Amino acid sequence: MLRDVITAGALLTVFQTARSPERTITAHIDAHVAEGLALLERVVNINSGTQNHAGVRQVGAIFRAAFDRLGFKTSWIDGSEWRRAGHLVAEHPGRGMRILLIGHLDTVFEPDSPFQKFERIDEKTAKGPGIIDMKGGDVIIVQALEALDAAGRLKDMNLTIVMTGDEEDPGRPLSKAREALVAAARGADVAIGFEDGPGDPRYAVTARRGTTGWELRVTGTAAQSSQIFRDDIGPGAIFEAARILNAFREKMSGEEHLTFNPGVILGGTSVDVNAVQARGSAFGKTNVVAEQAVVSGDLRTLSPAQLERAMTTMRQIAAAGMPHTQATITFDEGYPPLAPTDGNARLLALYDQASRDVGAGPVTAVSPDKAGAADVSFVAAEVKMILDGVGLMGHDDHTPGETADLSTLPSQTKRAAITLYRLATQPR
Ligand SMILES: [Zn+2]
Repeated sequence: MLRDVITAGALLTVFQTARSPERTITAHIDAHVAEGLALLERVVNINSGTQNHAGVRQVGAIFRAAFDRLGFKTSWIDGSEWRRAGHLVAEHPGRGMRILLIGHLDTVFEPDSPFQKFERIDEKTAKGPGIIDMKGGDVIIVQALEALDAAGRLKDMNLTIVMTGDEEDPGRPLSKAREALVAAARGADVAIGFEDGPGDPRYAVTARRGTTGWELRVTGTAAQSSQIFRDDIGPGAIFEAARILNAFREKMSGEEHLTFNPGVILGGTSVDVNAVQARGSAFGKTNVVAEQAVVSGDLRTLSPAQLERAMTTMRQIAAAGMPHTQATITFDEGYPPLAPTDGNARLLALYDQASRDVGAGPVTAVSPDKAGAADVSFVAAEVKMILDGVGLMGHDDHTPGETADLSTLPSQTKRAAITLYRLATQPR
């Protein structure tokens, strides 16, 4: 009889093919948590502060090897043109939806930071520089793809991975520094960023505000202070700067999702500004009307249209100067916003369903007012379905208390892997 000749090994094979690919994927993830944690500890222990180019490249080489093993075509994009380490790009052409996965290799902790090492706190907690922002997310990408591969599902997938080397402090010009990322996004149907987002697995990010820096420069007419406000002298540069800032607040502070913050101000007879270091010095006497004032700040908006409106208002306010003063405001190229779209909401709905199905609970969108700018924003104009903040969860990123909830490593990996599996089986 047939039954008599089936060996134990063959029975196991029959069982495995009988069970669903999704079960195989989640079982693989559960069986490889220790490997994931070991990889996380290894990469966290390599300093990859944005300016430590050798460290960024070293972390990149480790992830590159992982993608090579999975059959990706990998390359290192040299970053010397924008004075950073560069980016890792891994490509896996295939059928079906084109999916872009986004990570970054750098952290805010440079080699002179006292915070350098992975430290296990207890069974489910560890601290470390970049552990959630975002080496944990990078590990989740690797483990999700390994699980898809184990289920035989990776081979047909159409995937590109970009791990940037300067997310925390991008090189300039930004258009150069993000050229490879934007190129990888062109023609993609889906983009998923594995940042830690709000750090809470109940939330993911479908919208991020953009950030643009601005600088206001005001000049006034110098005179003896006793003559201030005279028709031919005016109020001086400092009063004019104060008028402009107050008008910004009065005209614009009520608008939803819009914020703007003057972060530093200098004024007097002469000012010396070091914009790179965000510092400077001023000279002025109490009995002299101020001749110069410089203010720099940021501006955050949820859509390109909101940014345009805000810039127009700020320019108009600056132009409507008091007598014998002159003001100009300039804006830098900044981070674009990731506006909330129907496509992003659909992707979140898929991710939410995957999360429920693997027993990790529902996921909703976090308020964009709580989500800072990130690399995913640069692909907003190219990709219709974007989700971010699905990396390793925890708290206190960018501080020496950066802590991971290690129990979210398998759960976040399962959600991601099942989402990718289901996306890949959908028609384009
Ligand atoms: Zn990050």
